[in-house]
Amino acid sequence: RTDAAAPSAAEKPPPLAGPNVMNVIVVAAECAPWSKTGGLGDVVGALPKALARRGHRVMVVAPRYSNYAEAWETGVRRIYNVGGQDVLTRMILLSKAAVETPWHVPCGGVCYGDGNLVFIANDWHTALVPVYLQAYYRDNGYMDFTRSVLVIHNMAHQGRGPLADYHRLGLPGHYIDKFRLFDPLGGEHNNIFMAGLITAHRIVTVSHGYAWEVQTPEGGWGLDGVLRDHNWKLRGVVNGIDDKEWNPELDVHLKSDGYTNYNLHSLDTGKAACKAALQRELGLPVRADVPLLGFIGRLDHQKGIDIIGQAMPWMMDQDIQLVMLGTGRKDYEDMLRHFEGSHRDKVRGWVGFSVTTSHRITAGVDILLMPSRFEPCGLNQLYAMRYGTVPVVHAVGGLKDTVQSFNPFNESGLGWTFETLHVDAFIHALGNAIWTYRDFKSSWKGIQQRGMSQDLSWDHAAQQYEEVLLAAKYTW
Ligand code: ADP
Repeated sequence: RTDAAAPSAAEKPPPLAGPNVMNVIVVAAECAPWSKTGGLGDVVGALPKALARRGHRVMVVAPRYSNYAEAWETGVRRIYNVGGQDVLTRMILLSKAAVETPWHVPCGGVCYGDGNLVFIANDWHTALVPVYLQAYYRDNGYMDFTRSVLVIHNMAHQGRGPLADYHRLGLPGHYIDKFRLFDPLGGEHNNIFMAGLITAHRIVTVSHGYAWEVQTPEGGWGLDGVLRDHNWKLRGVVNGIDDKEWNPELDVHLKSDGYTNYNLHSLDTGKAACKAALQRELGLPVRADVPLLGFIGRLDHQKGIDIIGQAMPWMMDQDIQLVMLGTGRKDYEDMLRHFEGSHRDKVRGWVGFSVTTSHRITAGVDILLMPSRFEPCGLNQLYAMRYGTVPVVHAVGGLKDTVQSFNPFNESGLGWTFETLHVDAFIHALGNAIWTYRDFKSSWKGIQQRGMSQDLSWDHAAQQYEEVLLAAKYTW
């Protein structure tokens, strides 16, 4: 919901009961808070809890990358033949193990077996789950009541490799056609994601805009034709946010060092305190009046860091401050360090991965920059709005779905969007945001309040996932 005030408690979907209660196994390469490189980890950390709140029984299968403090042993040991040592090998192993968990790993005291079961696989890493389910079980008359859903968080990574990779997957020969993708420039390769998309009973993308984009040559990265052929089973569901993790009223990262928790009513004083604390922590001049801009994210071409780079001369001519946090491509990391080095009075470029800092930036800055080239959903703009921080975004994918541009004529909207990914368009949108921040304080506050009042929780998204699970259940 991006259009109105928070719904009353009565509007919240009631928990499901009866025969439609599902057993759900979510399989993914990462799961916050234990493992996270981006939005995928956040979603896998939050969606299962929201489904469980709806009354479903939910298990998450994810790799154990280190010895997590809270982890306890299931005692279940299985040996799989995979061979080789690369990422594909690990994902084959994960997917093979995941399809067996309903038979071997008890959850709440019992194994799920084949009753009302649905797997939710995520991205190419676990796209083999629907395929193994089909090839090992369903083709042989087992697990007839089990379904699979594959969620697309990012189409750009597909598990592409030489066709020879196919022979490492442990599948019958006739499955190769689901994996073999002919490249437009000639040749063919093995594509893990494609096989999962073809085989899964349902496909979800993490926003409506992205559901459309993946069916275009620009957004499909070679699989747009496959998705057009299967769009009858494709649906967009916008991610929610974890309302305990990302809530300015409860945020544990705002409890020290001069930061403070706040809500809609204490927005002015709370946010001002967080802004001052952030400026102090980063060694920037502590000024309440200066527009403080932020960026958080993976330093990847996808995120449009180059557009921020091109806008730097203009930005540095303005009376603003800028904080950037991210890790990734070496040249972009160097760029952040360079910005900071040449504008020490205005810019901080923090190269690193810090959850605490990401929360503090979200709370402390006035404007969040997201000039992403493409953005399947985008979580940072949702977090920003929850914290009364105004997003300036490229109108693509989930950013387009979730941020309506401010309209001064009827005082509506949640931030600023720009249609063309060009530095001039970015500067135009950002310029309007800064102007409004400075000269139209009541409009600014209205934007902040509308952003904070939305119900961005997972509860509504979980209800839509539930519809997908049930649709899968009732189709063959
Ligand atoms: P993506 O999944 O493409 O990385 P999203 O906006 O969906 O983008 O999610 C990004 C998530 O990763 C957010 O929770 C964001 O705060 C977090 N994140 C990204 N980079 C960093 C970083 N350097 N430090 C801390 N958190 C980060």
